[in-house]
Amino acid sequence: MVEPLLRIENLVRRFGGILATDNLSLEVAPGELHAIIGPNGAGKTTLISQLTGQVMPNSGTIHFAGRDVTRLPSYRRSRLGLARSFQITSLLPDFTACDNVALAAQAHDGHSFRFWGAARKEKPLRDAAQAALKRVGLEKRADVPVSELSHGEQRELELAVALATKPQLLLLDEPMAGLGVTESARMVALLKELRREVTIVLVEHDMEAVFALADRITVLVYGRVIASGLPDAIRHNDEVKRAYLGDQ
Ligand code: ATP
Repeated sequence: MVEPLLRIENLVRRFGGILATDNLSLEVAPGELHAIIGPNGAGKTTLISQLTGQVMPNSGTIHFAGRDVTRLPSYRRSRLGLARSFQITSLLPDFTACDNVALAAQAHDGHSFRFWGAARKEKPLRDAAQAALKRVGLEKRADVPVSELSHGEQRELELAVALATKPQLLLLDEPMAGLGVTESARMVALLKELRREVTIVLVEHDMEAVFALADRITVLVYGRVIASGLPDAIRHNDEVKRAYLGDQ
């Protein structure tokens, strides 16, 4: 059997009286696109935040690429190849698309922000940023400030920012949120391309997108895994239908 790229075991995180993740275990194989779905407040974002190190678990373990990363700070996980895109945009609005990507690439490589004024003009950095922009189809928008990009373009740019850190595992928190029909279709097409190159954990409420993309799906309710498996089995699982999917 292939060693999982990500192995989560018995993860517990409490916020006061709330169990945001309740003894949660999950494995993600290399190359798969694994979707995490569930109702609002199920603990999906808290799970992603524990994977990146922005939230620490009360107990349980996280192994990534064969290493125990449970207590590692975020920047060390990022250097091991874990990258996240956020539910709420994390871009710098006054900077150009290219600068946002280059800044992420530079920070990931461990350089100081102090030298940013000079570094942004460096060719290797700009080339790396252009390559990431090309992967998401934004190469022609490189010199446009973020504030002038459409919402859909901003979401694509967030992907480019994550890709600039050369991830082994991409954690995507609701990349379809707020997108119109055409923009959603573009994002699904883009993720279909990216999944060929990188393992993806996708948190998403857009079930059409989830079923179009996922190799496997895990369903969370109140911080617990209620089902995990192939999309078809999840679609027809009675407990999942009752808790989340209805009659989709
Ligand atoms: P959504 O689909 O709405 O984004 P989610 O599945 O991502 O929801 P989380 O945001 O992880 O759910 O929240 C899980 C539970 O933990 C919720 O009850 C939430 O109120 C609680 N929670 C999350 N973060 C905090 C925090 N920093 N402080 C207190 N409670 C929190």
